[in-house]
Amino acid sequence: MKIHGDLAAAIGNTPLIRLNGPSETTGCEILGKCEFLNPGQSVKDRAALWIIRDAIERGALQPGGTIVEGTAGNTGIGLALVGRSMGFETVIVIPETQSQEKKDMIRLSGAQLVQVPAVPYKNPNNYVRYSERLAQRLAQTAENGAIWANQFDNTANRQAHIDATGPEIWDQTDGRVDGFICAVGTGGTAAGVGLALQPHGVKCGIADPMGSGIYSLYKSGESAPEGGSITEGIGQGRITANLDGYSPDYLCQVSDDEALPVVFDLLTQEGLCLGGSSGINVAGAMQMAREMGPGHTIVTILCDYGNRYQSKLYNPAFLKDKGLPVPEWLDRDAPVLP
Ligand code: PMP
Repeated sequence: MKIHGDLAAAIGNTPLIRLNGPSETTGCEILGKCEFLNPGQSVKDRAALWIIRDAIERGALQPGGTIVEGTAGNTGIGLALVGRSMGFETVIVIPETQSQEKKDMIRLSGAQLVQVPAVPYKNPNNYVRYSERLAQRLAQTAENGAIWANQFDNTANRQAHIDATGPEIWDQTDGRVDGFICAVGTGGTAAGVGLALQPHGVKCGIADPMGSGIYSLYKSGESAPEGGSITEGIGQGRITANLDGYSPDYLCQVSDDEALPVVFDLLTQEGLCLGGSSGINVAGAMQMAREMGPGHTIVTILCDYGNRYQSKLYNPAFLKDKGLPVPEWLDRDAPVLP
């Protein structure tokens, strides 16, 4: 019998797929960890589960309690679904600029949604800081208390990747993995997998989108973001607690002009319908492959499913408005019969 007892048991153990186009282009084996196949369709189900389990074990989260979090979307979906399966309420604070599809999915997952303007972290109404204050309020007023998930600085997040994602990659490749790379949102995935795989001699790196400060922070100690990216869920301007104590072996910057053709090729050539951060990751893996030379095996993360970005990344009008190239197939209607 191979039956999962509940939703939590269905999180993780995602397949690793050979990305044929990127592998052939670089002469390396580029492998994608299919995190979009988690129940909430993203890598963040893992962090949600570890954060909730940790809060229960610490006695911070009581039966019927409320979980509050500020998120770009995917963590909110994960917390809401895992929360539902365990009898917790969820309140999610999101910057209003995130995709409508993610907001709809958060509501559909049973969470209450609070939208706030997209303002920097130093502003008290930034989604993360707002969610912390809301959690403090609800801890006093909600019937069974409330906790703040605090995914950026709660290291139960990266522990999910130290305990599970990293060891899964090692086992699935029979230890034949030379490199690992992904982008940073909270840093949980990059640092957690890195901390699990570096002791095995795997070179671990970060691919940073334009507009994020991580590349310059590690290179020069200063956060100096340049440009901007339409990708959601990634980009960071500080060393979060999840990144603390982790030293990447390799860093690269990836522009949308480089990442978008990769996402579109993954869909048209390999049938993988993914979000923009997966494009940054795969383009980063290709940069790392060129640096390491042919014959190496490099793993990256396919973070979430593309249907979450139909109104943006996969919308010709949105791409044109941003001055980004629109693939011909996306802008084409099927012929209508008379
Ligand atoms: N991609 C997407 C689509 C995400 O939502 C996130 C999480 N915000 C990430 C990548 C980055 O993951 P992490 O928080 O583990 O750095």
